[in-house]
Amino acid sequence: MPKPPLPHTLPHAVSRLRTERLARAVKPFRMRGGPAERCPGCRVMFSHCFCNLRPNVATQAGVCLLMADIEPLKPSNTGWLIADVVRDTFAFSWARTWVDPRLLTLLADPQWQPYVVFPGEFVAPERVVHALVPETAAPGQLPKRPLFVLLDATWAEAGKMFRKSPYLNNFPVLSLHPEQVSNYRLRRSSRSDHFCTSEVGALCLELAGENHAAEVLATYLDVFTHHYLQAKNQKPLDLEDAAHLRLRDLSGQRQSGVLRVTS
Ligand SMILES: [Zn+2]
Repeated sequence: MPKPPLPHTLPHAVSRLRTERLARAVKPFRMRGGPAERCPGCRVMFSHCFCNLRPNVATQAGVCLLMADIEPLKPSNTGWLIADVVRDTFAFSWARTWVDPRLLTLLADPQWQPYVVFPGEFVAPERVVHALVPETAAPGQLPKRPLFVLLDATWAEAGKMFRKSPYLNNFPVLSLHPEQVSNYRLRRSSRSDHFCTSEVGALCLELAGENHAAEVLATYLDVFTHHYLQAKNQKPLDLEDAAHLRLRDLSGQRQSGVLRVTS
């Protein structure tokens, strides 16, 4: 059985967006295991809660999640995991006819250099970059921090969001390089054709040179997947599997005497 969760710190951006979205809901959102059975901190059943495994890493980069309407409500949404790991994660609901003024304020904030993460093949070539643009700060100023704008949606929705968000038009489009993508797949034995949002987040952190945070996020996704699927299938947890050991190792919390597993 997992240890009881640590006391929650302030709810993160996706958690707050979820609360806002629930308050707007006309009819209750249906999911297996009602709110009484699911931990509000990690969204899996209390019996499989992994709040006590939430990593704590410092990152220079930030992430801005533009979320399709229903995404914050899905217990399987992995943008949530980014918000768990990356302290400067911002999350906004996307709508075709309305833009959250707080999003525009964030995008205009001079401390950030936003990058819209989207496949380059669908974008005018002059906007596409495959690496971060080196920042040269003006005298007396800090260089801008990368802010990765991720469209957290199904593929069809993401395309619509990209095309119908004119406020993103002035920012470079970061297109993940096929070589980086296939390296990531090899390292993580990932076979799926599409990356989930937290995998894209990990690849962005890699591009920003934040390899430790990238590895933490990727491993945390493995841990989440285990807890989520074991809960769904009503099976017990294996807290000593490769993903848990690796996460502990990365967090510097590994207990002595535990078999070291490297991936
Ligand atoms: Zn929990």
